[in-house]
Amino acid sequence: MDQEAMFVSMVCSTHREPMVLKFQRNGADFIAVGASKQRAGSVIPPGDGGPTTGSFGTTPDYPGCAYCGSDGFVRCGRCHELSCHDTSWEVFNCPRCGNSGPVRGHIDSISGMGAS
Ligand SMILES: [Zn+2]
Ligand SMILES: [Zn+2]
Repeated sequence: MDQEAMFVSMVCSTHREPMVLKFQRNGADFIAVGASKQRAGSVIPPGDGGPTTGSFGTTPDYPGCAYCGSDGFVRCGRCHELSCHDTSWEVFNCPRCGNSGPVRGHIDSISGMGAS
């Protein structure tokens, strides 16, 4: 049986370019398995529910940001959008709203995604 996949829009913190992050569902966990550059003009279909909750993370197999290769992502505390982030970066600068600060906590809810 195929695992459920979920797609979430993400912006590269370095290049400020949009991409689509693909998650694979594993029980209550959502594992990022890849990021691909978003084609100009393409839109991710809106999810039909509210925020999806669970544990969001990456695996060692995650190939990194499609633009800068950073190894992870964070969800902005202000605009609640995802942006790429490398674990070696001490400070997060949101490419969408300009919020910046140290990364802390854990992502447990993501909204505004399209599900396949
Ligand atoms: Zn990036
Ligand atoms: Zn933000």
